[in-house]
Amino acid sequence: MEQRRQATAARLAELKIDALLVSSPPSVRYLTDYAGSNGLILVSRAGADFFTDPRYGLEASQKISCRVHVAKQALIAAAASLIKRKKLKKIGFESAWLRFEDYSRLKEDLPLGFSLHPVGRVLEQQRMVKSPSEIEQIRRSVALNSQAFSRILARTRPGASEQEIAARLDFEMRRLGAEKPAFETIVATGNRSALPHAHPTGRVLGVNELLLIDMGATLHGYSSDMTRMAFAGTPPKRVRDLYRAVLEAQLAAIGAVRPGATAGKVDSAARRVLQAHGLDREFVHSTGHGLGLEIHEPPRLGKRDKTRLEAGMAITIEPGAYLADFGGVRIEDTVLVTAHGCEVLTPTPKELVQI
Ligand code: ZN
Ligand code: ZN
Repeated sequence: MEQRRQATAARLAELKIDALLVSSPPSVRYLTDYAGSNGLILVSRAGADFFTDPRYGLEASQKISCRVHVAKQALIAAAASLIKRKKLKKIGFESAWLRFEDYSRLKEDLPLGFSLHPVGRVLEQQRMVKSPSEIEQIRRSVALNSQAFSRILARTRPGASEQEIAARLDFEMRRLGAEKPAFETIVATGNRSALPHAHPTGRVLGVNELLLIDMGATLHGYSSDMTRMAFAGTPPKRVRDLYRAVLEAQLAAIGAVRPGATAGKVDSAARRVLQAHGLDREFVHSTGHGLGLEIHEPPRLGKRDKTRLEAGMAITIEPGAYLADFGGVRIEDTVLVTAHGCEVLTPTPKELVQI
């Protein structure tokens, strides 16, 4: 954690600020290991200061290795007093995360000569390349997620509703030790599988229908993400063709993952295959995203993303094709960029499962 805070502090000069106020819960966790709901950290050249309220005081002082301030007032007010006392004139803040009321309060509290500067997603950039211990956490999260999936899928039959299947998956994840699902589990049956982000409903899986499951677990703060497809019965040719095309696109994208390749290049590898199958217009989202302490992190593997992949990045590869009134197919793995290419972390087999 100390090393991470030093790496953040090392960027202050280039950002032309004296200190950075970090308020996003995942980045606060990244810098301190604090996973509570009310924490704030101020990183300056003189080290880091962590603020929380008395509920977390004891835990924080035992666990966090930087200076801990247990504030009885609003955390932002406590941070403002310290900023004034230390004469940190230029304060950077995370524009995507600092609440407007906290921003306004801070602005009001600081005298003339002090200024606030939005810095964008500095911490998210820093978090893109994972450390060996983070990679280990992601591996465990991926393994747990796949285990929960296989156990529940083996017991899933036509007649179960989307909500019921989702509830069983969530229950199994927690039973295996997950803190929570990493996002709302997606279970879509029949032609509802054509909705890339379907919320589970009371609709029941019918015979001769597609079943799409997109799920992830959070384990020790770290996410996993996987999509698999099943068919209730013997899949007809149209389903098999659609499935094969998406699988081919997914494998092509995985084949393009290596250090130095741009995120956009990986995306176009998937898109090219779907285009050859006449399905490029049915592929309505990007090929993947980074994941870690959040389920969606940079880089985004989209058409125009120029981010160069680096060893240690954890990303998803998840092309899909969605045909309204028929159904959709998506296949998603969690993938680690390695020194020479990549490693697919997801152990679940990729054939279309018949149930
Ligand atoms: Zn997913
Ligand atoms: Zn995903």
